[in-house]
Amino acid sequence: MKNEIRVFCPATIANVSCGFDVLGVALDSVGDEMVIRKTTKKGITITKLEGQDLPLETHKNVAGVAGLALLAATDYSGGFEIEIYKNIKAGSGIGSSAASSTGAVWAMNQLLGKPFSNLELVQFSMKGEELASGVQHADNVAPAIFGGFTLVRSYNPLDIIKINTPKELYATVIHPQIEIKTSDSRKILKTTISLADGIKQWGNVGGLIAGLYTEDYDLIGRSLQDYIIEPIRSILIPAFDNVKSASLEAGALGCGISGSGPSIFALSKGKENAKKVANAMQDIYNKVGIPYDIHVSRVNLEGVKVIK
Ligand code: ADP
Repeated sequence: MKNEIRVFCPATIANVSCGFDVLGVALDSVGDEMVIRKTTKKGITITKLEGQDLPLETHKNVAGVAGLALLAATDYSGGFEIEIYKNIKAGSGIGSSAASSTGAVWAMNQLLGKPFSNLELVQFSMKGEELASGVQHADNVAPAIFGGFTLVRSYNPLDIIKINTPKELYATVIHPQIEIKTSDSRKILKTTISLADGIKQWGNVGGLIAGLYTEDYDLIGRSLQDYIIEPIRSILIPAFDNVKSASLEAGALGCGISGSGPSIFALSKGKENAKKVANAMQDIYNKVGIPYDIHVSRVNLEGVKVIK
């Protein structure tokens, strides 16, 4: 059995407009890399962290916290060393913390001979999410582990369903360079919703799932609507309404906030359309003078994977 592996840890879009805390999708061309190594020394040591200014202490880093949760569930007598190479900026809204926690536990599971199921790996990773945002949410870690689109049907007991990904579906993500902490953008949300909004929202969740399975791109587009979270959170994101309308005009199926923002995502049919949407999004931020990162990516179908 190997003693060391290098893995790709995908960025993820959580919520996917209508599915707050339950829907997510993994990306293919944006993500971190990690090297995980077995050691005879017990516990977890983060030996390297490049690309972002984040804590190296095991208890303050989501990779360490998720990894310790896995270790506590094994009778393995050794430990692990972790190297983290961040490409995803913390607080970007594309699952920076989830990439690290899932990369750590997925790789450890491989090195131990796969004693744990994907569902158990999600549960360990959720301990990392709790450190990052104060809540054990699974909408980023589930797609990062399972790949593709995932639905958290229930949190208690945890029940995760991997959803079909239509072949021509591409994502465009723009990240305006302002930081919004998940913990802060959760605080502004209301804790109750009206029945009228609930009816619209669960109609769209059902529509989106049906559209993904039947590969009905128009239905996917009609269903990418969020009546509950977006009206509140979008005020934290500069020029959100302009970016959204420009994306839809450029041919996006739908457009919304990625996770807790400030990244904005759009889904499109085909790479060419996704690139047109990227141009339209960039034009808006170029005009208002906000620096950004932009990504066009197909959906990652496998989740965390070994880099050859
Ligand atoms: P995102 O939605 O992009 O994951 P979050 O705000 O949820 O952003 O997570 C970032 C928070 O998690 C930051 O406060 C950061 O300090 C903390 N954190 C701890 N370890 C890591 C890590 N390995 N990668 C990213 N963020 C981490």
